[in-house]
Amino acid sequence: MLTLTHEHVMDLENAHTSGFYAKRELVLVRGRGATVWSADGRAYLDCSAGYGVANVGHSHPVVVQAIQHQAAQLLSCPEFVYNDVRAQFQAALVAQLPAGLERLFLCNSGAEANEAALKMARLTTARPHLIAAVRGFHGRTLGALAATWNPAYRQPFEPLLPAVSHVPFNNVAAVRQAITPQTGAILVEPVQGEGGVRTADPGYLASLRQLADEHDLLLIFDEVQTGFGRTGTLFACQQDGVVPDLLVMGKALGGGVPMGGVALGPRVQNIAPGLHGSTFGGNPLACAAGLASLQVLMEEGLVEGAAERGRYLQEQLRQLASPLVREVRGRGLMVGVELKVRVLPLLKALQEEHGIIALPAGPTVLRLLPPLVITRAEVDAVVAGIQAVLANTFGAGGGGGG
Ligand code: PLP
Repeated sequence: MLTLTHEHVMDLENAHTSGFYAKRELVLVRGRGATVWSADGRAYLDCSAGYGVANVGHSHPVVVQAIQHQAAQLLSCPEFVYNDVRAQFQAALVAQLPAGLERLFLCNSGAEANEAALKMARLTTARPHLIAAVRGFHGRTLGALAATWNPAYRQPFEPLLPAVSHVPFNNVAAVRQAITPQTGAILVEPVQGEGGVRTADPGYLASLRQLADEHDLLLIFDEVQTGFGRTGTLFACQQDGVVPDLLVMGKALGGGVPMGGVALGPRVQNIAPGLHGSTFGGNPLACAAGLASLQVLMEEGLVEGAAERGRYLQEQLRQLASPLVREVRGRGLMVGVELKVRVLPLLKALQEEHGIIALPAGPTVLRLLPPLVITRAEVDAVVAGIQAVLANTFGAGGGGGG
């Protein structure tokens, strides 16, 4: 393959891209651990982890080896037959899931996994209405989009599924009020990611479980972003000791290879063969990568590491005590810094001046989703970069706040 210059890559992509994405002027060609490198050789600390995918770090050798081996063995194998790697991956994953979640549907993305969960809820309850949360994000396909709250994402594509009520997050009474005889399910993220890194209050998920049980509803947790160690436990709901009926997964599930999945509890009806499916669902390449990645997460202690490093990162960020910071919040290595100013200029300065790639979560929240292998020294570098940018870009005295 040709080695292309930075400019050449951007020109080529600009000529042929859909235009759906607001792109940064950065060409990434390589990654290892928490670091990625651009085409012109600059190293960046990646606090996006590819939107929370690279939990075990970029190009982890164990995952790379598993992918290489599987690619040479068997690349495609749909679910009308059995496959050795799929079987092992499913068994390994179920062994780590909260008790009772013993069946898996595998697909290719988080949105697709949410679609499947919504269809399973409909079949099980025969009640089509869904309660979702204000600021919830569940993906861009039409069903997942209907469950997503942000009007800017939804409105251009309306009419969507009509039967979704969005109620304020962390408000149990609002959920109770929204329940009608047609309600079949409640869908929330244990920590809202895209919606601003907002954590469920203690007891909120348990109250939803109770409400769901009282009204015979299915409880769906979207752990696409919070899953696979991100919040300091393998799944965020484990911190609350609450087991959903449907647990939705994506992002880090496939160890970097596209994959989505839904874990089904005992109350979810068996779906008759033929009613749902996916050509690539459960493909051996993604299963091999997912299995290797899960093994790395467990064997290298990355989940506990995320809890420890996440606490440290949040403590350090709180100590910045900048007048431009409204709040630092999050769980594990899913961290949001709510600012009193717009975040995009700060993200640009962080990247260009300090070699740190971070994400927004709404207009004023800086979101950090580093690979869980990030070291304390790298965390220190991230905090120092944020401190410098807060001081330099907006003035040490806090000018530009408001
Ligand atoms: N659900 C949550 C909580 C997400 O954060 C995302 C993506 O950011 C999705 C669903 C959609 O996943 P995908 O982009 O793989 O379709």
